Amino acid sequence: MTNAACWRKARRVLAGGVNSPVRSFSAVGSSPFFVDRGEGPYLWDVEGKRYLDYVGSWGALILGHRHPAVMRAVAGALRNGTCFGTPTPQETALAEAITGAFPSMEQVRFVSSGTEAVMSAIRLARAKTSRSKVLKFEGAYHGHADSLLARAGSGMFTLGLPSSPGVPLHVAADTISVSFNGLKGVAEAVRRHRREIACLIVEPVMANSGLIPPEPGFLEGLRRLTREEGIVLIFDEVITGFRLCYGGAQKLYGVEPDLTVLGKAIGGGFPVGAYGGGRKLMGLLSPAGPVYQAGTLSGHPVAMAAGLATLEALRRPGVYRRLNERAGQLKKGLLALSQRAGVPAAVHQTGGLLTLFFSKAAPRNAAQAKRSDSRRYARYFRRMLKEGVYLPPSSFEAWFISAAHGRRQIDETLAAHRAALRGL
Ligand SMILES: *Cc1c(COP(=O)(O)O)cnc(C)c1O
Repeated sequence: MTNAACWRKARRVLAGGVNSPVRSFSAVGSSPFFVDRGEGPYLWDVEGKRYLDYVGSWGALILGHRHPAVMRAVAGALRNGTCFGTPTPQETALAEAITGAFPSMEQVRFVSSGTEAVMSAIRLARAKTSRSKVLKFEGAYHGHADSLLARAGSGMFTLGLPSSPGVPLHVAADTISVSFNGLKGVAEAVRRHRREIACLIVEPVMANSGLIPPEPGFLEGLRRLTREEGIVLIFDEVITGFRLCYGGAQKLYGVEPDLTVLGKAIGGGFPVGAYGGGRKLMGLLSPAGPVYQAGTLSGHPVAMAAGLATLEALRRPGVYRRLNERAGQLKKGLLALSQRAGVPAAVHQTGGLLTLFFSKAAPRNAAQAKRSDSRRYARYFRRMLKEGVYLPPSSFEAWFISAAHGRRQIDETLAAHRAALRGL
């Protein structure tokens, strides 16, 4: 079996050949390899070629592939069956682990994806406030729900226009997009739409326009503005949740939202999303309250077991310090080699997340990130792939380092980087 043959077959029966667009590699002018298996920090394709994996299933595999504790937990759960559509103690156990790590989440509701969790959190915020508008940041990704597929135009802020056909104008019009790290724009939007905004949703560290950290005072400012205006502050920590530290961006930066959305890593490689907040707000959810939200496979026992094993492994001392160290070593090496090769490059890194931008300065918002050289990134991506390093197939995604990435893997990456820069 070859990658090319798999790709030909897939395109006949899968829309666009894939089940999620970025997997097609079209953003980097290439076509995907097809995975046979993974182990630790590595993937093997169907042709037997090995890749050092910096995607990690988009952050879900923070421990790397086939982590022994996760595999054991999954095998154990499967011995009892697959799913039951009725409560299991495992749901409570994972909820306890999450609420223990996130003091702002007194109660949790599990769903099956980040998209579903975001959608539900917004419904809850709208119910709480009896308002309809959603304030978000340009270039942030919160899943593919209609109300969040709205694009900002130019200017400081704009009423949303659909960024995809199929999203009704009236839905997108309820979404307001402003610029990340621009507190003035947020304040102005809040003033202009006084008592219309139900919630402000933010990735506290942007990880879907490349990695862009918040500037000092930004998250604190959002907290102050939303509190003053009775707006529900939602942190979308689907990526940052258990990645930056055990307790997410809210712990790292010391700012507590009203609602938190989690996903990716909390499922240990299985489909899980979650949202949670204070007991009173969460009490509005059915069956305790009037806000309806349900799911046949929500709290899936196998996923709960994988998530719980993942969180237990993450609680071991030194895990986050090592993730941070590796990412720091990588950042330093990438910058030094790029400079030596005369290629303008900048790096943002926070915990085990990092993005290399082909631009002179590191961006502070999505508009600036878009100005980095994505054609150069596409060439770079293809060369790195040839060298056996699998980077995100888009210049606007973060690189995910796993706990299985050691010093040796960082050196391997830097050697590939040096080769890929030649004549780039
Ligand atoms: C991936 C992601 C989502 C959507 O999660 P899915 O499980 O893909 O639906 C939402 N928010 C952020 C910040 C994400 O990175």
